[in-house]
Amino acid sequence: MIFRAKGKAIGIDDFVVGKITRDPYNQNNKLIYITSIAGLLPTGTLATITTDHQKTISQHITPQVYGCNSLDHLEEGDVVMADSNGVIRTLYRVNSYHNTILSTERCNSNCLMCSQPPRDKDDIPALYEIYKRAIPLIPKDCMELTISGGEPTLMGELFFSLLELITIELPDTEIHILTNGRTFAWNHMAQRLAKIQNHRIMLGIPLYSDYADSHDYIVQAKDAFNQTILGLHNLARYGIRIEIRVVLHKASIPRLAKLSAYIYKNLPFSEHITFMGLEFTGYTPFNIEKLWIDPVDYTTELTKAVEYLSYRNMNVSIYNTQLCTIPEKLWAHCRKSISDWKNEYLPECQACEKLNDCGGLFTWNLKKHSRAIAPIINQKINETLPETC
Ligand code: SF4
Repeated sequence: MIFRAKGKAIGIDDFVVGKITRDPYNQNNKLIYITSIAGLLPTGTLATITTDHQKTISQHITPQVYGCNSLDHLEEGDVVMADSNGVIRTLYRVNSYHNTILSTERCNSNCLMCSQPPRDKDDIPALYEIYKRAIPLIPKDCMELTISGGEPTLMGELFFSLLELITIELPDTEIHILTNGRTFAWNHMAQRLAKIQNHRIMLGIPLYSDYADSHDYIVQAKDAFNQTILGLHNLARYGIRIEIRVVLHKASIPRLAKLSAYIYKNLPFSEHITFMGLEFTGYTPFNIEKLWIDPVDYTTELTKAVEYLSYRNMNVSIYNTQLCTIPEKLWAHCRKSISDWKNEYLPECQACEKLNDCGGLFTWNLKKHSRAIAPIINQKINETLPETC
């Protein structure tokens, strides 16, 4: 999936954010017009982008990026940013359910398996400014937006401003915020979030163990467990919707059943608990010895954890895990959770009866996956799971 194009910019001081159109008669100052011939330049648009290597000579200098490598990936209505370096970044894709707002690359944790390792740079004001312009351009029927990082709450007051803007512009959109929840240990943060009064907001908060030292080790941050638990209770006090996210790996599996019991007894207000397969990207390849356990080797622990919560009427799901690697009795909990732009299948999947039901793999997990992956034929996969590597 392509999210970026590059050409040469003229007339762009910093950046422009607009909606893509290929219709020369569709002119307004929120549109960025794509043309294959630079000479055809509508006058009412915000900017023009083209693969043509000739820049447009016009009395009305419209900001433009010319000589782009390819613009075929852009659809009518996509929201993009074109900057003064000639880079065109896709901010929102109209034909996808998997659109994410990147709040910051900074984080106050440093998880062993972080898929997007934090970068210590002051990117918050610039990213906020970009999305402040992009959000009003997103179609009002957008079903879901994810706010990710880094750690979004490090935006401080801008985090709440961003949510207020989304609440006004996209009142019917589900907002899924991926946060470590630690900032909400400070009650005023939870109180401030509650003031926005948007019940479509749900926080996805990771919890990796019922034992503080173990959680702190996994997230590589002292006191993180205590802060997260306090944050979860502060959020619950204000009725904010919570999802608990548990990544499955060698450091979290041994206490998985105990963690389930802990969640049930101490966090009963959780609306959703999800157990998530490991992504082989970011820090994971560097920590693979500490993290890797084949999914087929943790089926006992996963089954206990899922059934414990499910029997107690908690809403529990399994993400990022292939059907052929887990017992059939857990399939009802499996979701097709991997975003379209990073979702792949192995060649052998083509012969599988469950291809349409299975969530497949992350693109980067094609080179690190379970030894148990094998097509399901006549639903006999569990009999064919190998015992050892
Ligand atoms: S063979 Fe492929 S499609 Fe079938 S269950 Fe396994 S991973 Fe999914």
